[in-house]
Amino acid sequence: VVGAGFAGTATAVNLLREWPGGPLELTLLERSAAFGPGVAFATPDPRHLLNVTAGGMTALPDAPSHFLDWLRARDEHAHAGTFAPRRRYGDYLRELLADAERGACREVRVERREEEAVRVVDAGNATQAFVLTRGGARLPADAVVLAVGVNRPRIPSGTAPALLGHDGWVGDPWDHPRIDALSSAERVLIVGSGLTMVDVAITLANGTRGPHLFALSRRGVLPRGHRSTAPRRLAPYRPPAGPLTADGLAWHVERAALAEVAAGGDWRTVVDGVRPYTQQLWQALPLGEQARFLARHARRWEVHRHRMAPAVSDRLRELRAGGRLTLRAGSLQRLEPAGDDTIEVSYRAAGTVERVRVDAVVNCTGPDPAPGADGDPLLTSLIEDGVARAGPLGLGLDTGPDGELRDCDGRPSSRIFTLGALRRGQLWETTAVPEIRRQAADLAALLRARGAQRSSRSSTSASGASATRTSRPELTIRASPS
Ligand SMILES: Cc1cc2nc3c(=O)[nH]c(=O)nc-3n(C[C@H](O)[C@H](O)[C@H](O)COP(=O)(O)OP(=O)(O)OC[C@H]3O[C@@H](n4cnc5c(N)ncnc54)[C@H](O)[C@@H]3O)c2cc1C
Repeated sequence: VVGAGFAGTATAVNLLREWPGGPLELTLLERSAAFGPGVAFATPDPRHLLNVTAGGMTALPDAPSHFLDWLRARDEHAHAGTFAPRRRYGDYLRELLADAERGACREVRVERREEEAVRVVDAGNATQAFVLTRGGARLPADAVVLAVGVNRPRIPSGTAPALLGHDGWVGDPWDHPRIDALSSAERVLIVGSGLTMVDVAITLANGTRGPHLFALSRRGVLPRGHRSTAPRRLAPYRPPAGPLTADGLAWHVERAALAEVAAGGDWRTVVDGVRPYTQQLWQALPLGEQARFLARHARRWEVHRHRMAPAVSDRLRELRAGGRLTLRAGSLQRLEPAGDDTIEVSYRAAGTVERVRVDAVVNCTGPDPAPGADGDPLLTSLIEDGVARAGPLGLGLDTGPDGELRDCDGRPSSRIFTLGALRRGQLWETTAVPEIRRQAADLAALLRARGAQRSSRSSTSASGASATRTSRPELTIRASPS
């Protein structure tokens, strides 16, 4: 399993908890030191909250209150509607993995390796694939699960190359020490106005201190907030029948939301009601209509769908009202170092070019969905070697129904699988815990079934074979010395 964020951890936990017996060698390869939290839940800032309530955050689909029970055992005030700190969720994942490792049956061996995978070699007719690491190891595996999350954000166009070496340039918004170091700056530009910008603003505007924050995005739109109380009534969404277009679908959802509001309800219940159908609706759109949805409606959908916890949304309102956070709609023209250690920003808004000077710039433009767009060696080599190809509309990788990669000719792999954000082109809605936990459980079930098949095949042949023959591991996801 390459990557031990939520997706890799959940896959490993499902494998270990339900392994039917027989040998299994499972290697978890993680390039950071943290096994469990991944990017989203590694934040040290306790004011970064989950954007889903505790009642909806179980890692295990067959145990709906698993996270809530864990949280309640540690916080007597927690309830299903609590928006817990994300770092607590990271602790939950760490513990879940450690418990699953401890509870695994005797024939299971788990190895954690703090290493980066840089290539997967899969010669179709060979018996195993190989995962190559930056440190030079060559790990044979019967099955490889790529659980590598999202790319780093793309460098905004107009960024002078000289800025990339500037002390005030933060290209990775999840580099927490670099963000903390900006708290003594006077003015900080945040490029982007989504949930990552919100994280950065919450960290930098500490109490009454912190720099003046200036957030710039094309539309200048913020994510919406969750309600602090449960809605008065729920509105089950009924997907439209018949052929779909992007505009028709957007209008259908909008009309349902308006009708709900007119009836005294809350639009959020309609958006949440659409969620169980989003993958099915996405797949029902012809490719051209999917492209139109991306161009015309995706951003609007996302700000309504991925919402801020109420306390976070209140804090943001306070920062804006107090003049500590300014949000502007405009298109970035140029970012370049100025002579005096500051950075000059020019952007076009309402037909004119505006200029401001800041001490630092944080890139919160969001992950680039094209595989390898940030130069990631693993994804780049998968495409270059023809082991994988880009997904529809360049979103993630092309995958089959079980998450199996499709190679450059569209042939499904029998050994290499992925889940989460890399399946965006196929599924669209595949980046949050509720979707990924289902994929992780299904993928683990598929790998277990294969292990069981091999197990029964090898025991049948072993019973007819020489008594001295030792049994081979049924499913080997194994590390070997480099
Ligand atoms: C800031 C943020 C907040 C979020 N908040 C929520 C929330 O509140 N609720 C919710 O449901 N969802 C939330 N999400 C969505 C979240 O992305 C998913 O829920 C989930 O955490 C994604 O997990 P992942 O394992 O796919 O990716 P990641 O968490 O990115 O994990 C991928 C892991 O793979 C490792 N890795 C990558 N490449 C390699 C390699 N080549 N070799 C070895 N290791 C590698 C990385 O170091 C990383 O640890 C949030 C996302 C972000 C970014």
